Amino acid sequence: MPVDFYSKLTNARGVYTFRDFVLVPGRSDVEPSKVDLSINLTKQIHLNLPLVSSPMDTVTESDMAIALAREGGLGIIHRNMPIEEQVENAKRVKRAESFIIRDVVTITPDQKISDALELMHNKSISGLPVVSDGDRIVGILTKRDVNFADPNVSVREAMTSEVIVAGPEVTIEEAKKIMNKRKVEKLPVVDKNRKLMGLITIKDVYSRERFPLATRDSQGRLLVGAAVSPYDIERAKALEKHVDLLVSDVAHFHNTNILEAAKKLTNEVFVEFIAGNLGTIEGTKDTIEALDGHVAGIRAGVGSGSICVTSEVTKAGAPTLFAVSQIAVALQELGVEIPIIADGGIRAAGDGALALAAGASAIMMGNVFAGCTESPGGLIKIGGKYYKPYRGMGSMASRQKRFAMDRYNQPAKGIAEGVEGVVPYRGDVSTVVEEFASGLRASFGYAGATSVKDLWQKAKFGAVTAAGVDEMRPHSIILPGEEKI
Ligand code: 5GP
Repeated sequence: MPVDFYSKLTNARGVYTFRDFVLVPGRSDVEPSKVDLSINLTKQIHLNLPLVSSPMDTVTESDMAIALAREGGLGIIHRNMPIEEQVENAKRVKRAESFIIRDVVTITPDQKISDALELMHNKSISGLPVVSDGDRIVGILTKRDVNFADPNVSVREAMTSEVIVAGPEVTIEEAKKIMNKRKVEKLPVVDKNRKLMGLITIKDVYSRERFPLATRDSQGRLLVGAAVSPYDIERAKALEKHVDLLVSDVAHFHNTNILEAAKKLTNEVFVEFIAGNLGTIEGTKDTIEALDGHVAGIRAGVGSGSICVTSEVTKAGAPTLFAVSQIAVALQELGVEIPIIADGGIRAAGDGALALAAGASAIMMGNVFAGCTESPGGLIKIGGKYYKPYRGMGSMASRQKRFAMDRYNQPAKGIAEGVEGVVPYRGDVSTVVEEFASGLRASFGYAGATSVKDLWQKAKFGAVTAAGVDEMRPHSIILPGEEKI
């Protein structure tokens, strides 16, 4: 059959971007403060805020993941490092907080105070339960005990023998009450034979109160995700026990070899898997079919990232807003409910609101989080203002590092698909998250929606003309700092 070249142009689908639309204000009796921004990121993971940080080497390592999970979102540790380092980053997030510490560092009564000091220093801890015959607790050694003791005496001589303990069923409120009443900062958890089962610290108890929205697992530890290449089963297996989900990290998931690799990976690794990136109805349907029940979420968007030159270089792309709507349509046609994560091109809360309104459950951001204190890399001062480094994972610098580390990632294409530069410093993650959450709440208020699912129902999109794009930003005014322009 002859190819109808002309109809390829005339039948082209509109691929819309954030700048093409607004949310048309709807009748509302919703106060922004009453909006519920919690969502399901996967079948098993619930977030209080729909915010996820990109797995990029200038965005998410353990500091970012810890800070974001404490605020109610989730960080995805990047994979541009050796496997052991990525696992260590995940472990650091898991160790950052827990209601009951399970792998407690202990000491025996016959060891010396000098041993205790060394342990405390190396592990950065301030107290050691003292155990003998099969982990039975016989004392506790705190900073106060060791500070005034002779380093050569035995632990037995310096320890506090009357230990305040709790049973395995203790709740956080009970633990707090006991610790306040008895004025102790560490509460060992023991079974009926006084065998040590875990340790509760006052620091962790207060941290739970300080971060009420935090994303936690059943043991009170913060949740964390990690990025993998679908080809890298070795990495996925190493991470499996230390993360709550794995996130596929390829620009074009709708590729026969990648689908096959991801199928193999999801059959061998037993942790939730987010597929992506995808951007079309066909890609979504093929993915769901190939991975057969193993898709816990989908990363949506090809070529919209702020550091991305994929579309410029290759002219291939599925802008994030378009990608979300296509994937949502495909999932609806298949009759399956799988959360969509809008990834790339989100500059402000309004873009996020549009992505959610188009069918996404969460938004993933690189640029915005790269500007935070907790992203890797130091502050850079240029002309009196502060910036932080930000680069695409497909940029030359980033790819060079990955080639050295990751034998699965061959230089498939000789050209860079990302750029590197700097982004304005925005302050701590908590400030940025607060700004985004308030912005999202305000958008929901305009749309009259109380939750993301309600927004899916109620949001009405308005198409913006090229003239409108200019009018909808501050205009006809000289802003501070722009006086010379
Ligand atoms: P941003 O928030 O900066 O607009 O977009 C971040 C997203 O861009 C990432 O989550 C990832 O999907 C995508 N991305 C990261 N690095 C590159 C790159 O070098 N090239 C392309 N095409 N996309 C990238």
